[in-house]
Amino acid sequence: MVNVRGVHKSFGRLEVLRGVDLRVAAGSVTVVLGPSGSGKSTLLRAINHLEKLDRGTVTVDGELIGYRRVGGRLHELKEREVLRQRTSLGFVFQNFNLFPHLTVLENLVEAPIGALGRPRAEARARALELLGRVGLADKADAYPRRLSGGQQQRVAIARALALEPKVLLFDEPTSALDPELVGEVLDVIKDLAAAGTTMIVVTHEIGFAREVADTVVFMDDGVVVEQGPPAAVLDHPQHERTRAFLSKVL
Ligand code: ATP
Ligand code: MG
Repeated sequence: MVNVRGVHKSFGRLEVLRGVDLRVAAGSVTVVLGPSGSGKSTLLRAINHLEKLDRGTVTVDGELIGYRRVGGRLHELKEREVLRQRTSLGFVFQNFNLFPHLTVLENLVEAPIGALGRPRAEARARALELLGRVGLADKADAYPRRLSGGQQQRVAIARALALEPKVLLFDEPTSALDPELVGEVLDVIKDLAAAGTTMIVVTHEIGFAREVADTVVFMDDGVVVEQGPPAAVLDHPQHERTRAFLSKVL
């Protein structure tokens, strides 16, 4: 499904991704762990083409993201094409990023109508169904500022799902939440996992990784240091850097 190959990315002289390879199978959950500054957010942003790549490729279901190949060379796609591709890559941010001037329902229907050209009635019906799925059917007409952080993040997840993405990318979806609100958001992500949603989740929630991940990826210093099933990576890490990181967070 998602195939990241030899991805390099620098900001000025700082090389943040130094040859990242990652394969994510359809219907699987990949949890990415790693210290601050190791390149986790940059990797998610590279997958979504929010960052240009210096080298390497990202494909989703075989489609090259952000570029097209012309005679062996890669040319960046036009913004419109990138936006179209991004509709198949749902992104959930740490800080929710809901549109504050729109109601919950309007937040959910805007992109399906605007980007996918769905009829309003159809987009509304689908939005209400998704709000039900994240337990917020009664908040359709509320404005984001009236919701708790956990509720806002559940709306953000429903909004990402409204575009029927092939894969959902989460960048620390619970780290801006008060501790008592973390569970309700993780529960929604767990339900999505059980329903077979393909997801890449950057998080520091080790318990969640253990319970939900098919694959745990440990990143450090711009590379994937090791990856495997949670029981292998979390309980029997092969690399000293993984052990050192886990000893701090477990
Ligand atoms: P955290 O756990 O703190 O979120 P991270 O693993 O997500 O860390 P990134 O945000 O990917 O790390 O950042 C990796 C490095 O790249 C950091 O040193 C960061 O300062 C740098 N960086 C990220 N984005 C930019 C940018 N747009 N311009 C310059 N440097 C950047
Ligand atoms: Mg980050």
